[in-house]
Amino acid sequence: MGEFDLIARYFKRPAKRSPLGVGDDCALLAPAPGMQLAVSSDMLVEGRHFLSTVDPARLGHKALAVNLSDLAACGAKPLAFTLALALPAVDEDWLAGFSRGLFALADAHDCELVGGDTTRGPLNICITVFGDVPAGTALLRSGARAGDDIWVSGTIGDARIALEVFRGRLSLPAEALELARARMEQPAPRVALGMALRGIASSAVDISDGFLGDLGHVLGASRVGATVEADAAARCIALCAEDGPAAGLFDAQAQRGFALSGGDDYELAFTAPVSARAAVEAAGRASDTAVTRIGRIDAEPGLRVVDARGAPVSQRFDSFDHFA
Ligand code: ADP
Ligand code: MG
Repeated sequence: MGEFDLIARYFKRPAKRSPLGVGDDCALLAPAPGMQLAVSSDMLVEGRHFLSTVDPARLGHKALAVNLSDLAACGAKPLAFTLALALPAVDEDWLAGFSRGLFALADAHDCELVGGDTTRGPLNICITVFGDVPAGTALLRSGARAGDDIWVSGTIGDARIALEVFRGRLSLPAEALELARARMEQPAPRVALGMALRGIASSAVDISDGFLGDLGHVLGASRVGATVEADAAARCIALCAEDGPAAGLFDAQAQRGFALSGGDDYELAFTAPVSARAAVEAAGRASDTAVTRIGRIDAEPGLRVVDARGAPVSQRFDSFDHFA
């Protein structure tokens, strides 16, 4: 099968929302008046972002999910995406699974594949997403203000626990591993929550490299500091919840580490004024997404991690950095 047959068979579908999709030199998008285009790219490299053994449908899901998560963090609505793919060989089983997982998530978000590039090479997947947001309403990293609450969506830390199992550093009962693995391989981008937080959240970021590291980007851009409650964060780990499949398996220090510097969560960390608490909770309910308050923004620069009594936690939390 040649390059063009491969594209036609697995990736070309009739354009629906965009004026021109796959097949010409460019795709055409038609942003509505008064809207701004939100654009983001994320690349997944075999051995670095995923294991060679991952199910291709789950990989197709994840490749798009991590990109949609960036739109979510801006409060943007997904419109379209492009897919640049390097493949070592044409493996039709792999392509069928990959495109199935990819399009299932794309269709769930009404996000259309409008173009891309396909070449031979070490397995590498790069997606660029396009979304739109009413002009001036995008959630930015720079809007946090002293006194704001710090919130997190969904559950955090579970993906890191799965990674530690695959690295051979931890072992887990089968049921717990299945849940952790689903969190690692099939993150649910918080698009509906991000859109519901427009006009409510003062800043937002998606958690790909670990909660504290990504919150640090908000603090830098907003020129503020923060106090984060480690145990409130640890309670957001689905696996370790009282009725979770890994309840009681990890001590407090380990749980704090998974929650605060786990990585690969694709949840939103966001800030909002105290006066907006009810509005944040309503946005969570409207988007069917749990939201938990785990800290506050301070005027004093720097990041303070405290326990439930407010005492400093002396533990190092490293965030993920490809070149550190
Ligand atoms: P170009 O010569 O401009 O690089 P190509 O010949 O690579 O274009 O691609 C032909 C068409 O197929 C283009 O419209 C391109 O956007 C699209 N395309 C290529 N690879 C993919 C892919 N993996 N998914 C979707 N569309 C693709
Ligand atoms: Mg090309």
